[in-house]
Amino acid sequence: MSTKVAPVFNPFEAAQGQFDRVADQLNLDVEIRSILRWPLREFRFQIPVRMDDGSIKVFFGFRVQHNDARGPAKGGIRFHPNETLDTVRALAMWMTWKTAAADLPLGGGKGGVVVDPATLSVGEKERLCRGWIDGIWKNLGPRIDVPAPDVGTTPQMMGWMMDEYSKLTGQYEPGAITGKPVGSGGSLGRTEATGSGVITTVREAMARMGIDSTRTTASIQGFGNVAQYAALGFVEALGGKVVCISCYDRHEKGAVSFAKTDGVDVKFLQSITDQYGTVDKAKARAAGYGIEPGDAWIAKDVDVLIPAALEGQITADNVGSISPKVQIIAEGANGPTTPEADEVIRARGTFLIPDFLCNAGGVTVSYFESVQSDANYYWEHEAVLRRLDQKMTSAFKGVVGMADSRDVYMRDAAYMVAIDRVVKAMELRGWV
Ligand code: NAD
Repeated sequence: MSTKVAPVFNPFEAAQGQFDRVADQLNLDVEIRSILRWPLREFRFQIPVRMDDGSIKVFFGFRVQHNDARGPAKGGIRFHPNETLDTVRALAMWMTWKTAAADLPLGGGKGGVVVDPATLSVGEKERLCRGWIDGIWKNLGPRIDVPAPDVGTTPQMMGWMMDEYSKLTGQYEPGAITGKPVGSGGSLGRTEATGSGVITTVREAMARMGIDSTRTTASIQGFGNVAQYAALGFVEALGGKVVCISCYDRHEKGAVSFAKTDGVDVKFLQSITDQYGTVDKAKARAAGYGIEPGDAWIAKDVDVLIPAALEGQITADNVGSISPKVQIIAEGANGPTTPEADEVIRARGTFLIPDFLCNAGGVTVSYFESVQSDANYYWEHEAVLRRLDQKMTSAFKGVVGMADSRDVYMRDAAYMVAIDRVVKAMELRGWV
């Protein structure tokens, strides 16, 4: 019997490890390092919620503000049963790098609640969202920290949160939260922003590598907000084929892949997917999709892999099954690659578009949304998407420029660009 125990993936240790590695390469001052290795502020609070059966259930909420040297902390709120303080810390730290890499005047934060939202009624969800705000509102605000949706949270939930915040402060405050529904302070283009931004970076990578996108194929992990619009963009904007997508089947409590060698019909799959990103297996099978194991997506013979589900998905155990044909890995999710797997990808020379560059489209349009909300003036859809494309293209070029000039791996280059900008702001503000 083997006694080998797989290491437990701790996203915060991974985030600190990535930072340390680049801090060494940059010879970063020890005082600056000690500020940036940890969040500036962390909050953990109880959220008692009256359930539909009359009982009170206590949930645990988090908000972590990693750094706000460049502007108000910014980052989503995740509702997930496995949420931990370390997950939130890691995501907050990655947000600092993400807003800096995209050159947005914002810092990094993240929040969460330990809960499976699919187990709550609509009323319970609303009370939990309002309770989250009640527990933390004094430390939020358009000039302090601006939350947004993430895994398990929706525009409607942001609408309730904005309403609760406005009630508590006594004035309409749409700029306090982004990802709100259109018609209630939301921005056009926010829904597709992250997936669309992923595809802008893939397009730029292909242009740089001399790849004809219309002849390419992709396999995607996940079929939630990011994955759906990345899939749509891969087909519609790049003219490529998506041959596999996967999801977590919350009824059967396991991951599953859906394959079609001649290319999936993204809009059809969207029409049979629920709000949590679970595809209806029976309907997909009836439409001729191959139903395969959850990890089948990673082993497909494709040009592009897009992990767009959760952190810690490409691991030492499965990185070896990536096909030699894969030329680009575009990290739509936050932290999808463990440090051990990252070493393997780095060594094999695959072109990696690191998470906080690749998925910065969401926070970019969130930033546009808070600008519009603050001004109470809303832009046309086309203007949002055009500005998003410009921002993502310029962020990609900035990181590639760094990778070329210092001859470093794309993840390290993204860190270098981001750390440089954050440190400059800290110096200008006299923190160090
Ligand atoms: P989502 O909840 O809409 O979708 C998540 C998807 O992943 C679902 O389809 C789910 O079934 C699937 N999934 C979960 N576990 C899986 C597994 N083991 N195998 C296969 N599929 C699995 O979430 P989202 O908003 O699309 O976010 C996805 C990732 O992108 C997260 O890492 C999130 O932090 C990151 N992200 C999201 C945004 C955004 O704007 N939504 C922005 C930046 C980064």
